[in-house]
Parts: sequence; C-alpha cells; structure tokens
Amino acid sequence: MGLSFRLARIAGIDLKLHITFFLILVFGAVVWGMPFGPEGALFGMLLMALLFVCVALHELGHALMARVLGLPVREILLLPIGGVALLGRSPSKASHELLIAAAGPAVNVAIIAALLPAIVALAFTGGLPNLGAPGIGEPGLATALLWLLQANLFLVIFNLIPAFPLDGGRMLRAAIWMFTDTVRATRIAAGIGQALALAMGVFALFTFDLMLLAVALFIFFGAGAERGAVQLQSAIKGLRAGDAFNRHALTLRPGDRLGSAADLIVTSYQPDFAVLDEGRLVGIANREELLAALTRGEAGLTVADLMRRVELRVEADMPLEELAQRMSDQNTRVAAIYAGEEYRGLISVEDIARAYPLAAMRRRETVAQAGLELTTEAPRR
Ligand code: ZN
Repeated sequence: MGLSFRLARIAGIDLKLHITFFLILVFGAVVWGMPFGPEGALFGMLLMALLFVCVALHELGHALMARVLGLPVREILLLPIGGVALLGRSPSKASHELLIAAAGPAVNVAIIAALLPAIVALAFTGGLPNLGAPGIGEPGLATALLWLLQANLFLVIFNLIPAFPLDGGRMLRAAIWMFTDTVRATRIAAGIGQALALAMGVFALFTFDLMLLAVALFIFFGAGAERGAVQLQSAIKGLRAGDAFNRHALTLRPGDRLGSAADLIVTSYQPDFAVLDEGRLVGIANREELLAALTRGEAGLTVADLMRRVELRVEADMPLEELAQRMSDQNTRVAAIYAGEEYRGLISVEDIARAYPLAAMRRRETVAQAGLELTTEAPRR
C-alpha cells in the first residue's frame, strides 16, 4: 500500500506505518487536549501511541504464528482503523488458519493479564479514584492503565465478532472449512461477514458513528476481496505450467554482444530472455540488467557475462498453482519449463498473473455449456 513507511523491523518482519496513522494522534491530542490543555494533548497522543503498540503486538501475534507454521510473512501495516499482517500466502490447512487467527486476540488477552496486577495494586494503594469511569479521566498513570485495559478488552471482543475478514470471521471460516473446502467456506464466511457489515453500517449511519461506518465498509469490501481471491485461486486449479508460458518469447545466445542485441533488448518488453546455446537453456538474462549495462556503455559485453543461472526447473504438466507456490517459496520470479529433457520456455510471475483471466474465461465457458452453478475442483477435506 502506498504512503506508508517502515517504522521498525522485528524478527525479520517489516513494521510499516501508513501516514494517515497520524490522524489518530491528532484525535488523541484533541480529545484529551480540550479538557486538560497542552499536557492533556500530550497525554492523549501518548495513549494513542500505546494503543498502536498493542495493535502492532496483536499483528505480530498473527505474523509469528504464521511463521511458526511455515508461512512467509511479508509485512505488518498499521492503519488508523487497525493493523494488517500481510502473509505471503494463505494457510493451506483449516487448523493453521484457526491458530493464526486466534494468535492476535490471544496477545491482547496476555496484555490484559499483564495490566491487571498493576491496576489491582493501584486500587489497593488508593491510586484508583474513579474505577467506574475510565473513559477520559485526568491524565496520569491510573487513567492510562485503565484506558489501556479497556482498549485491549475492546480489541479482543471486536476482533472476535464473526465478521470475515475480522479474526472471529477467519476462525468461523476455519471451522466451516473443516467440514467442506476452502472456497465454499470462504463464500459462506464472506456472506455472513457482509451481512454483519451491512447491519453495522446501517447502525453507524443512524448513530452518526463515522469510525464504525469505516470499519463496516472495511469488512464489507474486505470480505468481497477475499472471496474473489479464493475464487481466482481455485480458477487456476485446472491450468498447468505449460498453458501459461510465453510461446513467442525472443531468446538470446551466450555469445551475443550487447551492442548487436541492443535493438532486441530495447524494443522487446519481455522482462527476461532465455539464453540458448543450440537449443539448450544455459541461463536467463534480465532485461533491466541488460539495459543498465547498455546505459553504462558496456556494449562490448556478451550476454554470457550478464546472464544468471536457472534456479527453478519444472515440468510442463506441473499445476500452475503449485508452480506459483514454488516460486513464492524460493523467492524467484522466473522458472524454466521442460517437457522431459526438452526446453520449452520461461514462465514469470507476470505470466502466471496473466493466466487468471484465461482460467476465468475457461471456467465461464464450461459453466455456460453446462448451465449449472459453479462447482470447484478443490479437494474435500
Ligand atoms: Zn487480528
């Protein structure tokens, strides 16, 4: 997401802050600054920062659990309405989904457990005058502790609402998934999520609660997007690596000088060139790197000087979904496709992305022919 910057790197996971996050600091400053002056404004900003530490820890709970279960974690993004932990791919087992979703709220339960002794100690020493109304109390330690307790309680309860894609909704999807497949489970959970979001939205409109309205919209569109993503994922199920590579790709030879191949490199928009030596694949040359060398005036270099070795070699009949997975796991964006010993072509992540509409079209055609509702080929669990 644009307009965000890296705040920290924790256990190899980037923690990013969206710039609109500063709105929430302003909000805290206004709410506490109006009754308590500049000191109150500072206190309000501190509370908001602490709240976001709790949100970041919640997301780290999801992220670290995902990592433990072998899923790559891309980053954690903090937004004014909450945080998101972006995973490299979705869990492939219902039990993993359940554990990852539960790990976030569990962190807030742990924070509550850590706050309680301090609050009890304050209560016994008489430092807790207004236990009943922790909302906007006088700036101080007691108010901060009570406010954080209340905020973490809210985070637990709110996230456990079974409105997909909130954590509770993910847990619901995992529970349904145990009895059916991921596509059907997502469809049901997303439907429930959108119904709850609509109810929430109507309530927010009647009570002029803009924050709740934003959350309702987030849930509504989030549920729709997740449903779409899972449907696309299942759409490429029928496709194989050999269906999606570029059959008309231009190739280079290891002995080609950059100067003589310049026309080809500059005018072709393919991101990678296969380097062939008498039909045998000997390396991959990246267009950006070739262009960079040309720009540096290194036209005398040969393709062999700049090519890289082929890191991933797969069979043409490998399911596209599996290939996408392998590429993501090995962090490579190009793979070479073979039919037995015979080299067929290169396939990039962009080629796989372009295969989605093809798969969707094939699916529509099959459905139109059969005149039936879409059924998925996902294995039943
Ligand atoms: Zn969560």
